[in-house]
Amino acid sequence: MSEKVIIIGSGPAAWTAAIYAARANLEPLVFEGAITEDNRLAGTLPLGQLSLTTEVENFPGFPAGNLEAYLDDSIDKSQRQYMAPHTKEGVSGPELMELIRQQAKNFGTRVITDDIVDADFDTRPFKLTASDGSTHEAEAVIVATGARANYLGLPSEEKYKNLGVSACAVCDGALPRFRNKPLVVIGGGDSAVEEADYLSKFGSTVYMVHRRNELRASKIMAKRALDNPKIEVLWCTVLDEVLGTDADGVTGVRLKSTAGKEDREIEATGLFLAIGHTPNTAFLKGKIEMTDKKYLRWTTPGRTNTSIEGVFAAGDVADDYYRQAVTAAGTGCMAALDAERWLASQGK
Ligand code: NAP
Repeated sequence: MSEKVIIIGSGPAAWTAAIYAARANLEPLVFEGAITEDNRLAGTLPLGQLSLTTEVENFPGFPAGNLEAYLDDSIDKSQRQYMAPHTKEGVSGPELMELIRQQAKNFGTRVITDDIVDADFDTRPFKLTASDGSTHEAEAVIVATGARANYLGLPSEEKYKNLGVSACAVCDGALPRFRNKPLVVIGGGDSAVEEADYLSKFGSTVYMVHRRNELRASKIMAKRALDNPKIEVLWCTVLDEVLGTDADGVTGVRLKSTAGKEDREIEATGLFLAIGHTPNTAFLKGKIEMTDKKYLRWTTPGRTNTSIEGVFAAGDVADDYYRQAVTAAGTGCMAALDAERWLASQGK
């Protein structure tokens, strides 16, 4: 039997789309992604990029306050038992995601913890294939698969993944190998500052390696890095190679200057990449229009329509400009409304 709408993804865009679709009686089915080692390494586990961050200070509605009791009361026990204890004021990324997921489930959203690996948009209803081989039909589809962290692509970086190389300080930063040791973060954007700031709680010194002489990060975040005595920004510098041994993993990095200065090596037990993101659209290659950076293309100004009628895109998978939790949630809402109105126009 065909679903009215299938939503692929599990970040703020997907769950917000589910809330709106469920309240419109579309009985949405969400494929939230599979819990696999491949997805862990790629940064594409369920609950998306927000589940890899710490405090979320800019999502409206969470000014401050201890949410412990609220979390206990709101999140289903089966999920709550796996959540880290609430330690900070305000809301954390993982907490926010569990809250939005729960809200979607409260309105009847059904959830399958698997990846969609293929889509046939040539037939109606559309056919989606999950990684377990099962196929699922849907009149409308909302793609909200988000984006993942980039790596530089150096062989030495690949070699030491899980042995000191990471793209997620929040996931890995507290490991013993990083404690009271020098650490390196690559990048100069908000993510790099966030990573460096977080790592400064554990490492002895955190070197932020940035290829230019000015941070891309917002002013408030840049100030956070520059004011932190444990963060040292290495300006006009790029990573040349990750140094290490099979036994010890990462032991340091070799750096090159982009300003004509000498190469240098510094000791470090950890290397954290924070150099931007790639949209999770590989499974849709050749099936739907994308931009040259492989983001899904919104084809109608101010709407979430894609090049395939009945397929809508929401969140970072189609947005390389704002990339905020709240804008993802906003476009998730839009996609559900667009899908609802399109289904009605088709008499579905
Ligand atoms: P970003 O803003 O695109 O920054 C990427 C950084 O990596 C840039 O500094 C860039 O250098 C550098 N970079 C890219 N490719 C590189 C390469 N091959 N070698 C060396 N350096 C490279 O990405 P982001 O920091 O992940 O932020 C993405 C979005 O999320 C932004 O809109 C940001 O505001 C938002 N965000 C917000 C928060 C917050 O407010 N708390 C936290 C995280 C992210 P150049 O500057 O030279 O291009």
